[in-house]
Amino acid sequence: MSKSDSSKKKIQAIRGMNDLLPEHSPLWQYFEGKVRSLLARYGYAEIRTPIVEQTALFARSIGEVTDIVEKEMYTFEDRNGDSLTLRPEGTASCVRAAMEHGLLHNQTQRLWYQGPMFRHERPQKGRYRQFHQVGVETFGLEGPDIDAEVILLSARLWRELGLLEQVTLELNSLGSAEARAAYRDTLVAYFEQHHDRLDEDSRRRLTSNPLRILDSKNPEMAAMLADAPKLIDHLDEESRAHFEALCAMLDAAGITYEINPRLVRGLDYYGRTVFEWTTTALGSQGTICAGGRYDGLVEQLGGKPTPAVGFAMGIERLVLLLETLELVPDAARGELDLYLLPMDDAATGAALQLGERLRGELPGLRAQLHCGGGSFKSRLKKADKSGARLALLLGENELNHGTATLKFLREEREQQSLAQEALAETLTGLLGNRDT
Ligand code: ATP
Ligand code: MG
Repeated sequence: MSKSDSSKKKIQAIRGMNDLLPEHSPLWQYFEGKVRSLLARYGYAEIRTPIVEQTALFARSIGEVTDIVEKEMYTFEDRNGDSLTLRPEGTASCVRAAMEHGLLHNQTQRLWYQGPMFRHERPQKGRYRQFHQVGVETFGLEGPDIDAEVILLSARLWRELGLLEQVTLELNSLGSAEARAAYRDTLVAYFEQHHDRLDEDSRRRLTSNPLRILDSKNPEMAAMLADAPKLIDHLDEESRAHFEALCAMLDAAGITYEINPRLVRGLDYYGRTVFEWTTTALGSQGTICAGGRYDGLVEQLGGKPTPAVGFAMGIERLVLLLETLELVPDAARGELDLYLLPMDDAATGAALQLGERLRGELPGLRAQLHCGGGSFKSRLKKADKSGARLALLLGENELNHGTATLKFLREEREQQSLAQEALAETLTGLLGNRDT
């Protein structure tokens, strides 16, 4: 290709990194709005951290031999020669920021964040290279009460989105670091006995990260994995009591769950409680929210020992799930209520003013002004195309009488001539009293 050809070639977005188009943004805003108000109701405060961090932060927290650090990170050298990484998840940055700003000195914190994460994975439905998470992190609380709270608040979110019946809570305990180390030996011994039944990936993990073998989705290994010794049978006494107390709290709150002894999570920093919310409606990308306890991480990153528990959910998968299950309410479709239509150029100024007045009187109103002139016929066409339910027409006659003509664009109904003073009340009656 000659230079001039290649310079004309259209530049496209990077594979696995999506644009959020106007047709979809109302649903994202609906979801984000629900999350934001829910977290405020539980007393969680938002934290925003940069999307780029020193590579060492992720290598040291997530673990050198995890999938993320081994093969999924976007790592590059900046102009100073420092190794930087686009964040693959939010917990490490959150801990870094909380330590750096002294948020953890003998304090408890309930934090949340939201934003893009980056992982070099094979793009497919529900799995992207830039994706978005909302996450919750709590610090300084070691009892099972806070584990129960973060699970209950996620359950409330599903309920308010109409999803609770469609998702399953899977729960496990990874015990203490000591219990895990002892179990690791037991597990490796078992896998050594069944070495011929391990796939290549699992053989590699046998020395580096044997617990992750339990997570394998390979159907040929399923039977062998089902018979593997279970960590939950090898828990230390304190972790067992913690787990039982958590289960009792969830039972009392009426939250159903399945104990999944093979749930280990893909990041090294978890201990004790781990959980995932899953769905069968999205094919193999079925985990919509995942988290657990990571009491060792703050210390591992150079801070004072600080118990912590949190979770992250994938916004793309949740939005996909709402669409798949047809749980998108009208308010999340972003449709216009009203198209303000000056019938000729002489009425433009009056329509502009009327729009301002109505938006002041009705803060929930979504009104769009016709701009760009045109014949009356073409104006009406634009009104129809706008998707608005109503149009408000202003012409010479209306201006002379201080009225406006209300036209129903999507129902068979006589148009009405209304005094401009009466418009706010009529519109409220027709549209309901929305505040968003
Ligand atoms: P998976 O097992 O699906 O790879 P994970 O264990 O790697 O998930 P976490 O790191 O725990 O996922 O992230 C929490 C949530 O973020 C996931 O449950 C999922 O909803 C979402 N998520 C993770 N990776 C991606 C991705 N590449 N694209 C879209 N969403 C993702
Ligand atoms: Mg993953």
